Amino acid sequence: MIASLYIHIPFCMSLCDYCDFYSEKLPSSLFPSPFLNALITDIKYQIDYFGIKEIPTVYIGGGTPSVLGEEISVLFKELKAIPSFSPVEFTVEANPESLSEGFLRACVAGGVNRLSLGVQTFCEDSRLAVNRWGVEKNFTRRHGGRGGHGGSWGIDQRRFLAVTFTERALASEGSPLKAQRRRGRGGRGELLESLSLASRYFPDSLSVDLIVGLPFQDLGGVLDDVKRVLEFKPAFVSLYSLTVEDGTPLYEKLKNKIVTIPEPEVSDSMWLVGRDALLKAGFEHYEVSNFALPGKRCLHNLRYWRMESWIGAGPAASGTVVCEESGTAKRFTYPADVEKYVGEQLAINNEQLAMNREKGEGRREEGGGGREQFGICDCEVLDRMAFLKECLLMGFRCVEGPDPVLFKRRFGVSVEECIPRTLSRWEGKDKMLFLNGFLAEAFEEVETMDKVFKI
Ligand code: SF4
Repeated sequence: MIASLYIHIPFCMSLCDYCDFYSEKLPSSLFPSPFLNALITDIKYQIDYFGIKEIPTVYIGGGTPSVLGEEISVLFKELKAIPSFSPVEFTVEANPESLSEGFLRACVAGGVNRLSLGVQTFCEDSRLAVNRWGVEKNFTRRHGGRGGHGGSWGIDQRRFLAVTFTERALASEGSPLKAQRRRGRGGRGELLESLSLASRYFPDSLSVDLIVGLPFQDLGGVLDDVKRVLEFKPAFVSLYSLTVEDGTPLYEKLKNKIVTIPEPEVSDSMWLVGRDALLKAGFEHYEVSNFALPGKRCLHNLRYWRMESWIGAGPAASGTVVCEESGTAKRFTYPADVEKYVGEQLAINNEQLAMNREKGEGRREEGGGGREQFGICDCEVLDRMAFLKECLLMGFRCVEGPDPVLFKRRFGVSVEECIPRTLSRWEGKDKMLFLNGFLAEAFEEVETMDKVFKI
């Protein structure tokens, strides 16, 4: 079996207010050795279990993989020793706040050939307002804390808030922000330094993430962000629109009017300005939020968008194993709980690996795939309809749409035969920009046709 590998490193120096990914704030007693030990065992276990003979791409995300520093070489050493491990693309995520030369050297030595740097924005007021600064104790929590806000600032006090955030943080003697600012961590200076360092180690394969729609952002700021990033000649840029997820600290802050974000129309205009600047610089807009220079698209993400198999290791990681013949898939998702992962899953993996070795088996029988067979993972079975919808959903994220050969092989019909009415209604319209509307119609159509199930 051929499957890509996603590895989740669930630790960050501080937690950003908009973040919906699973991550624990450092320090943690499980970081790094207990976690790395469990992670490595898990990767070996899954490769064994699924009988993976080839790993075309690897992506280490999080969380913040760069908090591992040089210690990440422990993981690389183990990966290199796996016989099926020779990826053509090997990406690692990093954040400017924790990027070090030791980490970059370890990445290069470990075979990493693509670095994704989470810059998000150079605007310091925006970074402060969403706690994207890379400090251990964050400023916003001193005014209420995660999930416990209750600020009294009004919605019309955006500018006041900007000044207040900055001045109060800097005026407070001994405040972590003051110390951080002195060192330049998380500030514009450090971002530029980190970009410069990253581009020296990954001159042809640097990827940079930017976010649009943050507090205090405006058109000029977004243009400035894009222009500054382009000075470092990245091969890829991800331009994300901020999404405010329920239950995040940003959601609470907005609800309590502690902070505001640009209106959706304003945010959309800013995103379009950023997109146009990237197109002008020669980037192809090949996926909803992703831009690449010609020939530089991210192969790992393309495999997600084509719904080709991948395994996921680490708490909150999920993997999808596709059965091409039946047009179905199984999705395995680890709970977002690092303690459980290091404790329970490690014990299960060790026991299974030992059993397999004893029986001389390289792999256990597939078929059940239930959670009892896969430790603490949740296992979801995607039947033909569910998998077909996912293939449409993921495929139409890309400019070319779902891969025609894969789609026909899986479902016995082409995309054109599957959703003819929707495609004709959307002829000439930008499906990527209005993806939700397009998909709503496509799903409705697909549910009313039964060709898929008669084959
Ligand atoms: S650094 Fe990334 S993963 Fe960590 S809290 Fe911020 S957005 Fe989330």
